[in-house]
Amino acid sequence: MLDYHIHYYIDSCANDEMTFTNIENKCVELGITEAAVLKHYSSAMPNGKDDWICWHRTKPEQWKQYLAEYAAYKPRSILMSSGVETELCNERGDINIPVEEQQKIDLVQLSVHYMIDLDCLPLSLLIYPNLNFCPEFNNDEGRRLLEEWRQKTVDAGEENIIKGLVNAYMNAIKRYPKVKSLAHMGDGLVPLRTYLVAVDKVGNERIIEIFEPLMSLMAEKGVVWELAGSCGNTAMLKRANELGVSFTATADAHFLDSGWGPLSKHKNAEVFLDSMSLRRGKISF
Ligand SMILES: [Zn+2]
Ligand SMILES: [Zn+2]
Repeated sequence: MLDYHIHYYIDSCANDEMTFTNIENKCVELGITEAAVLKHYSSAMPNGKDDWICWHRTKPEQWKQYLAEYAAYKPRSILMSSGVETELCNERGDINIPVEEQQKIDLVQLSVHYMIDLDCLPLSLLIYPNLNFCPEFNNDEGRRLLEEWRQKTVDAGEENIIKGLVNAYMNAIKRYPKVKSLAHMGDGLVPLRTYLVAVDKVGNERIIEIFEPLMSLMAEKGVVWELAGSCGNTAMLKRANELGVSFTATADAHFLDSGWGPLSKHKNAEVFLDSMSLRRGKISF
């Protein structure tokens, strides 16, 4: 088994136990033979500040520390790669780590952690993907802002928004060869649903048709579609599989045995991939 998405203790979201040694030992126990241990990397926050809700601009000294500790660690019995989890920013395919920093690691796990800036829908509302973490929207003014945003998604057109997201992913893959995996993709539409886009109005067949160029590009470039478990629109996964996309399972572990993830639950995602008969991917570095 492989897991290309394991978080490292230097990030405050990951538990102190997430050291290279502990991660390797747990991988051995679980039968994971190849692992990527990631540092979160964000050049900028969507609010233009150092911190936004639970996200933080990367501190240069922590980044250096991660790189130094990775270089010093010699795994005994598994393959271990370095990498970052970073964000897709906009339709041009900008990502939240500069090229010179990308050169220092093996892979970029590309995530949509918050709404991206689209040509048809410029980013004008900052909500964390989980509204429970955004108390500022839990009042009359907040509800008015959410409704205003929802109306903008209707005006932009759900189909155009989906196309914008697909363009963004494709541009990032074409521009940055270190992007080797699209992180916790689910059916590809989770961030849009979170940001109140009524994607299901578009209809499954048309949604899949819009995603097909991205699927073909992923197959051609060997970029894997990462799954952390089951997802809504399984027809999307079946079509991606038909077009040659490879899939990987992850626990998105921030802990070893309890809490977020944890790594010990990796098998759950594998079981889902098996149940869908999805082609397994292996990243070539
Ligand atoms: Zn993530
Ligand atoms: Zn993650």
